Amino acid sequence: RRFLGRRSSQVSSLSDLRTFSSVSTPIRATLFPGDGIGPEIADSVKQVFSAAEVPIEWEEHYVGDTIDPRTQSFLTWESLESVRRNGVGLKGPMATPIGKGHRSLNLTLRKELNLYANVRPCYSLPGYKTRYDNVDLITIRENTEGEYSGLEHQVVRGVVESLKIITRQASLRVAEYAFHYAKTHGRERVSAIHKANIMQKTDGLFLKCCREVAEKYPEITYEEVVIDNCCMMLVKNPALFDVLVMPNLYGDIISDLCAGLVGGLGLTPSCNIGEGGIALAEAVHGSAPDIAGKNLANPTALLLSAVTMLRHLELNDKAEQIQNAILNTVAEGKYRTADLGGSSSTSDFTKAICDHL
Ligand code: NAD
Repeated sequence: RRFLGRRSSQVSSLSDLRTFSSVSTPIRATLFPGDGIGPEIADSVKQVFSAAEVPIEWEEHYVGDTIDPRTQSFLTWESLESVRRNGVGLKGPMATPIGKGHRSLNLTLRKELNLYANVRPCYSLPGYKTRYDNVDLITIRENTEGEYSGLEHQVVRGVVESLKIITRQASLRVAEYAFHYAKTHGRERVSAIHKANIMQKTDGLFLKCCREVAEKYPEITYEEVVIDNCCMMLVKNPALFDVLVMPNLYGDIISDLCAGLVGGLGLTPSCNIGEGGIALAEAVHGSAPDIAGKNLANPTALLLSAVTMLRHLELNDKAEQIQNAILNTVAEGKYRTADLGGSSSTSDFTKAICDHL
């Protein structure tokens, strides 16, 4: 019950694709190695996929060094077209280049591909001891609006204004995704996280939409939790939660908190779900410039993200095989990267995973 699902409307075409692929051509998926540690951990994914004989052919796209006027960012139009065409992809972390007149790379991807839900499974890894051994949470973050709408300006000198946008359409869409996810993954509870006592209009509308959707899913327990209380409850007893759905900024913060409960950013995967069934998987963490190029990065988060991509494609046997190899390597404890208290390099850890396949 820990993995990303997708809507039934996509099932037939992807099943067909998989069946077709197992007989003849491999499935094409877009790969953005990204910045910083991105290329190193993307290499790990390529090595593990190759060792497991996953029938995926990567279509690699790099962040350009000039702004593409069609995207107003360093991401080219062709790279976005690649994701649209393939329907699935894996994305390494992307640092936001400093400058003006262009959009952030992550924002460009989310807006252009309409990646409306960011799904972040977070669970305790067997054999890797943290304060809790029973964490099993799914945070679902609205990914297109809220405080991240990019509408900021100076009102007068010394006073700035940043607009938080919440729409009924985006709130209903992400709430529907969360409840559908809960239903199809054997989850029992959806908690809407908010601050509607203060943000009465914006978070109030978000909650109203969640309530509307909740009525369609009587088998799922629905509750509303104020974000500050949610943080306290998560730290005290993460087992109180199951699936959490929330506006953009809260999702960004809460999912990092959840990552901390199970051992840090090197371990937590995510997947961005877009209109029309697009799935773009990515690790929760950033480009980690402090350890980039040193063969120190933990590739687990990107590998587990790649596993969610395989499940989206219904390549469940391969997903299971790779996930077990990762979990067994971590549990065995012989090879661990520095963030998990070990001294293995990225490449030694990757090799150990391949040996566990
Ligand atoms: P970060 O996640 O890159 O790093 C935070 C800390 O966690 C660092 O100490 C880093 O070394 C460590 N860390 C992260 N991933 C790790 C891994 N796989 N293995 C071992 N250690 C790991 O966050 P930051 O430093 O705030 O951001 C750096 C850059 O990444 C910024 O430009 C930011 O905009 C970008 N960023 C991108 C994304 C994305 O592409 N989705 C997400 C977050 C940040």
